[in-house]
Amino acid sequence: MKQLHRITRTNESHWVGDGFPVRTLFSYNTPDAEVSPFLMLDYAGPAQFPPATKPRGVGLHPHRGFETVTILYQGEVEHHDTAGNGGLIGPGDVQWMTAAKGLLHEEMHSAAFTRQGGTFEAIQLWVNLPAKFKMEPPHYQSIVKADIPVLKLDEKGSVLRVIAGVYQGTKGPANTYTPVNLLDLRLLAGQTAELDLPEYYTTILFALKGCVNINNSAALNDAEVAFFERNGKTVVLTALKDSSLLVMNGEPIDEPIAGYGPFVMNTQGEIRQAIADFNYQMY
Ligand code: MN
Repeated sequence: MKQLHRITRTNESHWVGDGFPVRTLFSYNTPDAEVSPFLMLDYAGPAQFPPATKPRGVGLHPHRGFETVTILYQGEVEHHDTAGNGGLIGPGDVQWMTAAKGLLHEEMHSAAFTRQGGTFEAIQLWVNLPAKFKMEPPHYQSIVKADIPVLKLDEKGSVLRVIAGVYQGTKGPANTYTPVNLLDLRLLAGQTAELDLPEYYTTILFALKGCVNINNSAALNDAEVAFFERNGKTVVLTALKDSSLLVMNGEPIDEPIAGYGPFVMNTQGEIRQAIADFNYQMY
């Protein structure tokens, strides 16, 4: 059994641009947080937006040294970058962006979502890169809902989508630089799932909605995050309500972290270089 280490909750919310009301649920700055290879988890919404004429979102900004993984639950995002890439991310889709040596991009509500309005709900997870890959050329993996395998967990309709890595022999479509298993889990009320996860990896569970009992000991409610011990393999979840959960599991990257805003490198010198390159429009 993988023991629960602690459960945390964040009620503080801030706006990213004018499109994303987010709660930062953990970051590499959190004291005593052993989150590697993950760096940060932002949860946007669920929030209602009225119909509008001008798209809301966040304008051109840089990233360097890591990957941003955007998972859409409700609403639609349109992105563009300075390398000429762009696209739409809709419900069930995932965009796995390897910023690596850097790019500038904007993330906006899509034209259709802006016009119609509605509920917006998304996750952005930052995944670190090992030092040797931090200055690779940037690239995207646009993963649509149909590309993501769905494992049926029971006859009631509980399902697990394998976004990255592997779960019980089923491989997810996202390619990763270090071993990462990213699983989107829907567990219906009354159902139990026994997750089988690699030992010694970081394991973090986020409940978007619902309530699950963990290992017959503690309850994880909506917008709460559970951190697990590294040893042990099995996590037993019983849903007390219909629940939507994200399982983040990955091999820790044992390297120093120096971060400043949208840049995450290994040393303060590399952060100064990242800022200088941004100021001289080297992205
Ligand atoms: Mn961004």
